[in-house]
Amino acid sequence: MLRCDGFGTRGADQPLGPISFNRRDVGAQDVQIEILFCGVCHSDLHFARNEWKFTVYPAVPGHEIVGRVTKTGPGVSRFSVGDRVGVGCLVDSCRTCPACRQGLEQYCETGSIGTYGGTEPVIGGQTHGGYASHIVVDENFVLNIPDALELSAAAPLLCAGITLYSPLKHWQAGPGKKVGIIGLGGLGHMGVKLAHAMGAHTVLFTTSPGKVEDGKKLGADEVVISKNTEEMAQHRASFDLILDTVAATHDLSPYFALLRRDATLVQLGAPGEPLAIPVLPLIMNRLRFAGSMIGGIAETQEMLDFCAAKNIAAEVEVIAMQQINEAYERMLKSDVKYRFSIDMSSLTGVSTQNP
Ligand code: NAP
Ligand code: ZN
Ligand code: ZN
Repeated sequence: MLRCDGFGTRGADQPLGPISFNRRDVGAQDVQIEILFCGVCHSDLHFARNEWKFTVYPAVPGHEIVGRVTKTGPGVSRFSVGDRVGVGCLVDSCRTCPACRQGLEQYCETGSIGTYGGTEPVIGGQTHGGYASHIVVDENFVLNIPDALELSAAAPLLCAGITLYSPLKHWQAGPGKKVGIIGLGGLGHMGVKLAHAMGAHTVLFTTSPGKVEDGKKLGADEVVISKNTEEMAQHRASFDLILDTVAATHDLSPYFALLRRDATLVQLGAPGEPLAIPVLPLIMNRLRFAGSMIGGIAETQEMLDFCAAKNIAAEVEVIAMQQINEAYERMLKSDVKYRFSIDMSSLTGVSTQNP
């Protein structure tokens, strides 16, 4: 077993603190990675605080992982010691169901294994995430980080990047399409960058007037303050696609009014409580309300290569592991520009307790 140092929590109302735990030893197909940076996703907070009602404690969040390969199993063919690699939200899936065979491992019909909160197949118990010194992952779920990408800014691509890239591709964002992104947080700022890079007319909806200039710098052609009904009305029935990244419950009806006939609103933000669906506008314009979860492994590599080619990465505020509780509180106040990225060297020398 590989002893790892990390940060985790022992209860929904407990702060995160040092935890040490075991991972499996490197198996034939496994890659052992020294984690260098880990992005802080709002899902980490939902999970740490049991807002989705399935958290088992102690829990170690983190699924925007980049680092260096330190060891490979004898059957590993794609990676060598020293390679710059990434791990996102998935560490395994059945690989044989129709979804897996189509490269849609995130929709595996028997259930993919999450980077945290999944069932660890070799040593039992649950999987632990990237707020840690090391991780051991099957090489088929490990991504190559292109040299052009700086590591701290590449980490958030592993969840925030792919979560926006996949629906933008699926719903064919590109030249001639008007695409809205709701919320300028971790996901939303990647949505603005990616939709712009794909050539779509990109409109940011924000509740924060202080983010208007940043939204434009990041690639939005227009920025709308979503609380301003007059600004919203100017965009009536004009959007082909709107991606909603809001992490809290909120009113969807103002956005349904902005979709043209047959257009789609895709829900990406995952608040713990249900959202009310305004049915009449949906019916009257043959609208579609959809969801989308991260992306498959091949598509995640495609996204990383796209970002490297287009010189795109996350805007990050690098923090020490010890600042994570404060970072969560700031995330709840929409006070992040625009993703926290944890420098894992800050873990060195942290005294750990056994879970
Ligand atoms: P985040 O960095 O906290 O950003 C969320 C943004 O939503 C905020 O910056 C804010 O933007 C806006 N917002 C927050 N509270 C709001 C409210 N009450 N009303 C309206 N707008 C509000 O979070 P994130 O990491 O991007 O994650 C967003 C959500 O996506 C989370 O629920 C997360 O669990 C989920 N998620 C889903 C997937 C998936 O596969 N579908 C993957 C990753 C994460 P403004 O200040 O601009 O208004
Ligand atoms: Zn995430
Ligand atoms: Zn499967």
